[in-house]
Amino acid sequence: MASGEGRRHHHNLVPLAALISREMRNEKMEKPTVRYGHAAQSRKGEDYFLIKTDCQRVPGNPSSTFSAFAIFDGHNGNAAAIFTRENLLSHVLGAIPRGLGREEWLQALPRALVAGFVKTDKEFQSRGETSGTTATFVIVDGWTVTVASVGDSRCILDTQGGAVSTLTVDHRLEENVEERERVTASGGEVGRLSIVGGTEIGPLRCWPGGLCLSRSIGDMDVGEYIVPIPYVKQVKLSNAGGRLIIASDGIWDAMSSDMAAKSCRGLPAELAARQVVKEALRTRGLKDDTTCIVVDIIPPDTTVQPSTPPKKQNKLRALLFRKKSCASANKLSKKLSAVGIVEELFEEGSAMLAERLGNDDFMAQSTSGLFMCAVCQVDLAPSEGISVHAGSIFSMSSKPWQGPFLCADCRNKKDAMEGKRPSGVKVA
Ligand SMILES: [Zn+2]
Repeated sequence: MASGEGRRHHHNLVPLAALISREMRNEKMEKPTVRYGHAAQSRKGEDYFLIKTDCQRVPGNPSSTFSAFAIFDGHNGNAAAIFTRENLLSHVLGAIPRGLGREEWLQALPRALVAGFVKTDKEFQSRGETSGTTATFVIVDGWTVTVASVGDSRCILDTQGGAVSTLTVDHRLEENVEERERVTASGGEVGRLSIVGGTEIGPLRCWPGGLCLSRSIGDMDVGEYIVPIPYVKQVKLSNAGGRLIIASDGIWDAMSSDMAAKSCRGLPAELAARQVVKEALRTRGLKDDTTCIVVDIIPPDTTVQPSTPPKKQNKLRALLFRKKSCASANKLSKKLSAVGIVEELFEEGSAMLAERLGNDDFMAQSTSGLFMCAVCQVDLAPSEGISVHAGSIFSMSSKPWQGPFLCADCRNKKDAMEGKRPSGVKVA
């Protein structure tokens, strides 16, 4: 912002100023308006949220502005939720290479989100504090919405035609068979709490620790197969816009995605958020922290303009999924037609770090020419980096000396998450 203001004072640079303002006007015409509202009712004081609408891809360039919204639902204390709110955004942005154009930046985002989540988790765990948190983290840049989440703080999308889609998956052992199988295969035990007499009660939990979630940030007192690797989904809205509802399980335990969307249609974002919370409390009472953010992505004017030419979309998709097989490309186009007007640009939920960081060293090289750890961005000496693919099943198909690279510490973290080495964490 500072440099933008400085520029405005240089009245002698009229041609440049005129050019910049014309560019900004054009940008504004194309960009949707983002309006948001937030509401919460606290019971345990472990829900936290983040709303930041003045982020910039290019620092000092107001036309590169994007917004970040997030909900962190903490458990066993609030330290992990607070730490994640303070650090996750900067860790994600720090994992995006410098100097990228807008489209490349958006393409780099899914991998940067994975790196940022893992780095935040590692840093928090190194503080030796207990507690953990869900994290549902949303970046809105123009019409493109990118969501990354661990845990069960759901984000839904309500679009003009009344179609409600979920942009997250619930990482709950009770409801997610795939996650149950992954945790068990990595050495965790999944079962219910048993009380005196052997009666089992409550939802499925992971032991040791007794956590109901299969992914979270923090939680150093549970097994490391409770991973911080987020499910990531990136969609491009049509120019009719849409509404995002991001909320903690205090909402979703009380009502379905459809009910939440319907309960607030027609209301402006601020009132909508309050309405969703009110509706949840009416249905279920205040049993849990209940937090809701509503984000409206609104067309700049009422005239519906033709959508992006298909040629350009195909090119973008080809870039994004250039590493994917034909089978997954078919799956993708089926999904595209099912969703209708919302274009799905990216979706990946694997808990395997090697699959999430990709096969090239696109993100691994720092400006100094040194290689960097793809997770924590520390510089690596030439002999130091360990390929993310080394020693994995991928080493057959791709070269184990190819990037991205991990520092020894992150490599240990990766192995622990995959259950390949006993967790170093002592469980009381
Ligand atoms: Zn590292």
